[in-house]
Amino acid sequence: MSTLEIRDLKVSVKLPDGQLKPILVGVDLTVRAGETHAIMGPNGSGKSTLAYSIAGHPKYEITGGSVTLDGADVLSMTVDERARAGLFLAMQYPVEVPGVSVANFLRTAKTAIDGEAPKLRTWSADLRGAMQRLQMDPAFAQRNVNEGFSGGEKKRHEIVQLELLKPKMAILDETDSGLDIDALRVVSEGVNRVRETGDTGLLLITHYTRILRYIKPDYVHVFAGGRIVEEGGPELAEKLEAEGYARYLAETGPAT
Ligand code: ADP
Ligand code: MG
Ligand code: MG
Repeated sequence: MSTLEIRDLKVSVKLPDGQLKPILVGVDLTVRAGETHAIMGPNGSGKSTLAYSIAGHPKYEITGGSVTLDGADVLSMTVDERARAGLFLAMQYPVEVPGVSVANFLRTAKTAIDGEAPKLRTWSADLRGAMQRLQMDPAFAQRNVNEGFSGGEKKRHEIVQLELLKPKMAILDETDSGLDIDALRVVSEGVNRVRETGDTGLLLITHYTRILRYIKPDYVHVFAGGRIVEEGGPELAEKLEAEGYARYLAETGPAT
């Protein structure tokens, strides 16, 4: 069983003038395969910074601490190596990949991660099945990645990737933003299917509680001011829904 361990992680963002602005001030978190964790917190609390740091985004500089996956040092891996190691990072604002169809993109990603190309016949059936479960038009597979995708299409594409690539750890940043209620349900069902395999650890990042009506996290961590300020079970999400983040902001300063 896989384990992602984040220890005393400190991260600064590189500003255009070359200065470093500290964002994460010491984050500790352990996610095991089969567990679902929610990170919740107000805007500007550093949630996306955590996701980007684990993804290896060059704008973020690690100034302390460690991230390991089954003991292997994630922070010294290239972005490709992180994916091959079994990390899946669905970014809040996925980029366009000009001239590459969804079908080709997924097959290339699968090949890179598994180290061999998937068998064409089973692969086609797997892809069709995954798209069907997310209620996507089969023609979608021929579109270029993220080109003109609606918010809902981006998120569905994200979950199709998750189902087909079967990562050890998946970090989903704001998977619920920009979704109408039907899309939210379809996407949540997809996440729950991945969860039920028990093979993937899930880290859901959100500042809304609404997705947590469909996906019940095992653990909830509240982020404020670049660190975890409170932890609990699913009941903590309900408390946040009722009370908001004002209490935490009083301690850490206003959202940015
Ligand atoms: P969240 O995802 O919780 O809304 P972020 O991780 O996006 O928070 O941002 C955390 C803090 O880091 C915010 O104060 C934000 O303004 C700051 N920040 C993030 N990226 C940059 C950047 N490129 N330049 C300056 N500040 C940044
Ligand atoms: Mg934000
Ligand atoms: Mg964010």
